[in-house]
Amino acid sequence: MEKYIISLDQGTTSTRAILFSLDGRIKAISSRPLPCYYPYSGAVEQDPLEIIISVNDTIRELMIKESLVPSQILSIGITNQRETTIVWEKSTGKPVYNALVWQSKQSQEICENLKDKEEFIREKTGLILNPYFSASKIRYMLDHIENGQERAENGELLFGTVDTWVLYRLTEGKSFYTDYSNASRTLLFNIYTRNWDEELLSLFNIPACMLPKVIDSSSIFGYSSILSETTLIPIAGILGDQQSSLFGQTCFAEGDIKNTYGTGCFLLMNIGKEPILYNKGLLTTLAWGINGEFTYAIEGSVLIGGASIQWLRDELKIIENSPESEEIAYRTKNDDVYVVPAFVGLGTPYWDNNCRGAIFGLTRNSSRDVITKATLESIAYQSKDVMEVMKKETKKKFTTLSVDGGASSNHYLLQFQSDILNLKIRKSETSETTALGVYYLCCLTLGLYKSLDEIKKAHRISEVYKPNMDKTIRKEKYRKWKTAVSAARKFI
Ligand code: ADP
Repeated sequence: MEKYIISLDQGTTSTRAILFSLDGRIKAISSRPLPCYYPYSGAVEQDPLEIIISVNDTIRELMIKESLVPSQILSIGITNQRETTIVWEKSTGKPVYNALVWQSKQSQEICENLKDKEEFIREKTGLILNPYFSASKIRYMLDHIENGQERAENGELLFGTVDTWVLYRLTEGKSFYTDYSNASRTLLFNIYTRNWDEELLSLFNIPACMLPKVIDSSSIFGYSSILSETTLIPIAGILGDQQSSLFGQTCFAEGDIKNTYGTGCFLLMNIGKEPILYNKGLLTTLAWGINGEFTYAIEGSVLIGGASIQWLRDELKIIENSPESEEIAYRTKNDDVYVVPAFVGLGTPYWDNNCRGAIFGLTRNSSRDVITKATLESIAYQSKDVMEVMKKETKKKFTTLSVDGGASSNHYLLQFQSDILNLKIRKSETSETTALGVYYLCCLTLGLYKSLDEIKKAHRISEVYKPNMDKTIRKEKYRKWKTAVSAARKFI
């Protein structure tokens, strides 16, 4: 009977179980949407039990849909929304509070009170002091449940990011671990010593006994009886979603870089075996730990990527659906209109919370199609902004950009991106590179691939885009984009 690996992709908007054949092809996908709750302004929460129910449902549905027996599943890998924070009772496994989702801002004040420690925190974690990361969220929870601090100190409460929570429940509380990629997003993990940091724990007053043990991303994290009491399935790989996408794109060498075009865009670059801190708001993070060897990455983000296309559809109502933007872009001429979609400020390298969106260069000929095309192009310009700063800071020369995410199905966008970067772009055969990352990782743990080189050889690319824009035009367009951004920033 054919064997498979299940990649569990626990994201913010949905949970998906993806069945991979051992040739790396997707056989089937089951998915469940996951609700977010907004109890008050700035707060974004999820129900940890709903996460587990969606995990169980999607895995079981896959088995039923594909008429599989448990022994056909060699392993389960987990990739997850990062930073989202869950605290539960050790004795019962019950959550004591809703999950505080990465976007949630309710711990803003805790971070503000530590403002003078910002540099100290950055030098240990590679991150910025921000409610986005887990530490202040744990603090918030312990302050908002009855006797939270006391119970945590007595060892009654456990903390986990989503990977740890899912692992804990899939193994009936037997495995309490996380991997390096997830640990490095908590603001409590020292990326130099690769341990939970005592000084950071005391800064946030978080007892060490709450924290999971951190182990290699390619470990056997435990065994799950989810499919049968007698056939236990090894959990053989865990990676945070962006690191998993970097791995799934086979960005194994120093200087390799990928961009995920989703709601926002996440650019990660492999910086090799040593952590290095860079300026301009680039975060340094652990990419993965494999067989005791560590790989680091830097990360930059575009806040509004594909979301700008949703804005065209839902707010301006000038397109019916996202793919229509491609068709429009191909048939429309846009000489000089620039959309700066700074709806929630600007991410890397500006980190400007106050900037708001703007459109520049309108004329009588500026139709809705022109605005659509300019909006699509803004995704590419913003990604170039991140890559420019990565190039400048690391002094590395890029050879290729690997791409994935929903908006990477737009051919116009990818060709324009290649043109404006003057760089080759490659797209994997599967668009599910995040799930592919933990699939590859499980294969490595199980010995199905012996090395990263073997994975690289097996990896299939479906499309390559080559730059085809005159240098003068490219420079002029990018200059105008930068002018548009600075004008938008001046407005506020
Ligand atoms: P996320 O994981 O952040 O939810 P996805 O990777 O599923 O995002 O991508 C969805 C985003 O991609 C949406 O913002 C959508 O507007 C955009 N998108 C999807 N298809 C296209 C397309 N053909 N052209 C442009 N944008 C698209």
